[in-house]
Amino acid sequence: MFNYFQDLADRQLAGATLSREEALAVLESSDAQLLDVVAAAARLRRAHFANTVKVNYLVNLKSGLCPEDCTYCSQRLGSAAQILKYSWLKPEEAAAQAATGIRAGASRVCLVASGRGPSDRDVDRVAGMVAGLKGEHPGVEVCACLGILKGGQAGRLKDAGVDAYNHNLNTSESNYADICSTHTFTERVQTVEHAKDAGLSPCSGLIAGMGESNSDLVDAVFTLRALGSESIPVNFLMPFDGTPLEGTWLLTPAQCLRILAMVRFACPATELRMAGGREMHLRTLQPLALHVANSLFLGDYLTSEGQEGRADLDMIADNGFVVLGTGSSGPSSRPEAADDAGASPGAPATIRRRGAGTAVAPNA
Ligand code: SF4
Repeated sequence: MFNYFQDLADRQLAGATLSREEALAVLESSDAQLLDVVAAAARLRRAHFANTVKVNYLVNLKSGLCPEDCTYCSQRLGSAAQILKYSWLKPEEAAAQAATGIRAGASRVCLVASGRGPSDRDVDRVAGMVAGLKGEHPGVEVCACLGILKGGQAGRLKDAGVDAYNHNLNTSESNYADICSTHTFTERVQTVEHAKDAGLSPCSGLIAGMGESNSDLVDAVFTLRALGSESIPVNFLMPFDGTPLEGTWLLTPAQCLRILAMVRFACPATELRMAGGREMHLRTLQPLALHVANSLFLGDYLTSEGQEGRADLDMIADNGFVVLGTGSSGPSSRPEAADDAGASPGAPATIRRRGAGTAVAPNA
């Protein structure tokens, strides 16, 4: 029986380029078609990344106090979000944070700093951290995310051993002025180009759920495809209280899956990361998303907590995937079960100490 999405996957596997109409068909598919969409996108994921999941770990080098006004951001100018605010971490603090993620299986560390963009002194500071990190963990990739780059800064980062540079486009060009007034979409694109020209692997992605249309999402993804973004983080808006997008809840778990699938169909061989907001928006569908995306951030985000790192590693293992670079579901994970091995031991039961028979509120 003809299946539109399996046919679409066949054509992408044969080297076709996803059209705008096809991308919109994925985004506008019905709930009844959801598993067909996921199954077809999962074939592309398997073809290019087999059963691996790339684990990335964020280190927020400098938090809050940003002069820019990105509406979605808890660190923006005038944000009343009750986030941690601090200036640059000391190199030894950054190294200790990174080591925690690496021990848990991260093959890429993402060094992030708030702000419009780095000064040359900031670039030197990060270069020094990267040299230390690479000396201790030579096999680990380092991605820097420092904002808009000026001439020569990307090259300096490359020379210091940085592997990749992240700068998200976030949304479409036509929607950009609605989410930020202090810099332009073009400046964002130029930074991705600077990074690429310097030999850094360009990492650039999206934030969905800010009120954009499906057409905006397609525009943004097609721009990322044309730019050659080599990893695409898809964030789902975390509507922090104290920011202009406070209370903005526009995504359903199913729509988050469709968005990830559309990116997979458009960029089948590109690292696709389920990024910030996955827990609150994909909710119980997170494991299904892992069959479409091949990458995630472990543990916490820049200013908010993610689910427990242990839960991330268990989700990877339970779905039959392995952490890229370790050949297992994580260094401290349970022994890997063979295919169809049946049930494996789960976490020990926590004895109930709340609800009926106690003075503590029940769990519901
Ligand atoms: S430039 Fe970065 S840190 Fe500053 S408000 Fe925008 S997203 Fe947030």
